[in-house]
Amino acid sequence: MMRYISTRGAAPSLTFGEAMMTGLARDGGLYVPETIPHISPDQIAALVGQSYEDIAFAVMRPYIGDLFTDAEFKGLIAKAYAGFGHMARAPLKQLAPNHFLLELFHGPTLAFKDFAMQLIGQMMQAALAKSGERITIVGATSGDTGSAAIEAFKGLANVDVFILFPHGRVSEVQRRQMTTPDAANIHALAIDGTFDDAQARLKDMFNDFAFRDGVRLAGVNSINWARVLAQVVYYFSAAVSLGAPHRKVSFTVPTGNFGDIFAGYIARQMGLPIEKLVIATNQNDILHRALSTGDYRPDGVVPSISPSMDIQVSSNFERALFDAYGRDGKAIAALMDDLKAGAFHISQGALETLRATFASGRCSESETQDTIRQTLNDSAELLCPHSAVGVYVAQDHLGATPMITLATAHPAKFPDAVEQASGLRPALPPRMADMMTKPERVTRVPNDLAALQALVRERIAR
Ligand SMILES: *Cc1c(COP(=O)(O)O)cnc(C)c1O
Repeated sequence: MMRYISTRGAAPSLTFGEAMMTGLARDGGLYVPETIPHISPDQIAALVGQSYEDIAFAVMRPYIGDLFTDAEFKGLIAKAYAGFGHMARAPLKQLAPNHFLLELFHGPTLAFKDFAMQLIGQMMQAALAKSGERITIVGATSGDTGSAAIEAFKGLANVDVFILFPHGRVSEVQRRQMTTPDAANIHALAIDGTFDDAQARLKDMFNDFAFRDGVRLAGVNSINWARVLAQVVYYFSAAVSLGAPHRKVSFTVPTGNFGDIFAGYIARQMGLPIEKLVIATNQNDILHRALSTGDYRPDGVVPSISPSMDIQVSSNFERALFDAYGRDGKAIAALMDDLKAGAFHISQGALETLRATFASGRCSESETQDTIRQTLNDSAELLCPHSAVGVYVAQDHLGATPMITLATAHPAKFPDAVEQASGLRPALPPRMADMMTKPERVTRVPNDLAALQALVRERIAR
C-alpha cells in the first residue's frame, strides 16, 4: 500500500489519510509518495471519451490506499464536482493555432483551487465520519484559498472552519465569497492587520502544541499532498482530449506556490506524454530566476494585478528539488537551512534535471494588461490577470507540440484589473449573481493570539 515520505527524510512515513490530515511533516518537510504509480499507454487510451469524474477515479485510485472503497471514492468524487457550472468540469478552448486554454474556473469560487478543495472537503469529512473524530481547520488567506475552503467545508458535520483574512484588504467579491455562506460551522474572521499578520497568527496556533492538540487543528494549505493529487487529474483530461497517449502536449502554468505545476510534474512522472512544463511568473519571478541562474534568492514581494502569484517563497518547489537531488532528504534539509540564511544554490546536476522537464518565463504588469487586451481582440477570450501571465509566457514556447495554458481564475474575480486592461467589466456567472446582495456574516478580530485562541475554543464548544 502507498506510503508517503518527507522531503527532509527525518519524519515517519504515513498513509494517505494521515498525510492528508497532517499537512506539513514534523521535520518541516513536505510529504510525497514513496513511489509514483505508472499508468501505461493502454490505460491512458482507455480514458478517451470518459467523464472528468471517471478520469479522476482512474488517476487517483492508486494513491489513496485503503482509506475508501472504490464505491465510496467514486461517490466522493461525484459530490465534489457536482456543484461546478460546466459539464466538462475543465473544458478546453482553442486560442490560436496549436495553443489551447484549459478553463479551471467553473467551480463554486471561480478559481482552480476548487478542484482540490472540493474533493479534500469530501474526503476529510468521510474519513472523520468513519473514525468519529472532529477537527478544526484554521486558514489564513489573501483571498482565493479562504473562499475555496469555505465553499468546500460549509455544512460538513465533523469540521469547523476558521478563515482569517486581512480586514479591508481583499476585494469585495473575495470578501463576500467568505462572508455570505451561512453554515454554522463556518467562521469568517477579519483580522486587524495584514495578510502577513494573519499568517503569523496561524503559525503561532500550530506551534502552540497544547492548543493544536486540544482543538485538533488541521491545515488545508497548498502543501497538503491531497490537494496536489486532485490537480493531477486535469492534466490527464486535457492531454487525452488532444490525442494522448499518441501525441505529446506541453503545459504553461501561472505559478505562485508551485502546487499546480507540481501536479503536472506528477502526471508526467506517471507516464502522461508531457514534453515541457512551463513555469509562468509575474514580476515576482523568483522561480524564473532560479531556473535561469541556479540561484534561489527571495527579494521581497511587489504587489501585482495577479495577486495569487505574489509569493516570496514557493513552498511546493521543495518537492521538485527532492527528486532533482535523487530524493536525498539531507541535501534538501541543508538547502532549506541555507534559505533561512538568505538563499540557496541549486547544484548543476539538479539544475539540469529540472531543466529537462521545466522551462520558465516572466510577464511584467504592462505585458499582463497587453495580453488581456490582445487576447480579447484576437480570440474573443477575456482572461483573468493570472491566466494572462500564462498566455504571455506560453507564446515563447509554441511549436509543433500543442501548448495548453491553464486559466486559473474567472475574469469576474478580478473585475477592476480586467476592466482597466480591456475596457470590459466581466460579470459574475448568473448562478452567483445574488452574492452581491446576500447578508454578510463576519467577526472582526484583533491581531492577538490569545484572543483568537479563546474565540476558536468558545465557538467549537457550542
Ligand atoms: C493560487 C493561484 C495561483 C498559483 O497557484 P500555485 O499552485 O500556488 O502555483 C495562480 N492563479 C490563481 C488564480 C490562484 O488562485
